[in-house]
Amino acid sequence: MDRAEAGKPRARVLVVEDEPALREGVTDALDHEGYAVEAVADGDEALKRIRRGDLDLIVLDWMLPGRDGLSICKALRKAGNHVPVLMLTARGGEADRVSGLKTGADDYVVKPFSVAELVQRVAAILRRSGAPERLELDGLTVDLTRRIARRGKEEVELTDREVVLIRYLWERRSGIVPRADLLRDVWDYPPDVETRTIDIHIAKLRQKIEEDPAAPKWIVSVRGTGYRWGGA
Ligand code: CA
Repeated sequence: MDRAEAGKPRARVLVVEDEPALREGVTDALDHEGYAVEAVADGDEALKRIRRGDLDLIVLDWMLPGRDGLSICKALRKAGNHVPVLMLTARGGEADRVSGLKTGADDYVVKPFSVAELVQRVAAILRRSGAPERLELDGLTVDLTRRIARRGKEEVELTDREVVLIRYLWERRSGIVPRADLLRDVWDYPPDVETRTIDIHIAKLRQKIEEDPAAPKWIVSVRGTGYRWGGA
């Protein structure tokens, strides 16, 4: 651990791997790096642990007894859980890589890998993750963990989908988010489906977070394209 960071709480990493030797090797290496490491050997145990929260990163094997790594990752993202995931996989095929990343994994390493490489990847993901649990904006606070938006003294509850939507737009705040991307990633619909779902949800969300929903400051429509996060 960097000395300058010695006073910070240690990043908490969960290792999910059914091969005992590999699990122990990875656990020991991360422990040696100064992380607080926990390890489990199957998918169902992993999901139980993940649902308790308080993790900064998950090293997740693809092939596991119980639920497999891909379905765990997909379930997390669908539930709006953005804890970073580093996927371990024995499959090197392009299709598998793509589908692995589409499930929302942040990175992956293909077995066999060196433990030193894995440690580097973990550090890199933790450096760039920094996904906020709370957005402090001009006149608006969004608590993504408690699912609450606050404007002045007014506090409103957000639905799970609204939290996912806000986080999605915010994470892509440097550009325009096409409607097709929202449908695919937030609603899990095929991008060619014609739907008013997005507009209805956006309208409701604007009522909750915008000072003037008719002239939105945060969720801005881009004609014919999609939306962008305003005030960026
Ligand atoms: Ca395995």
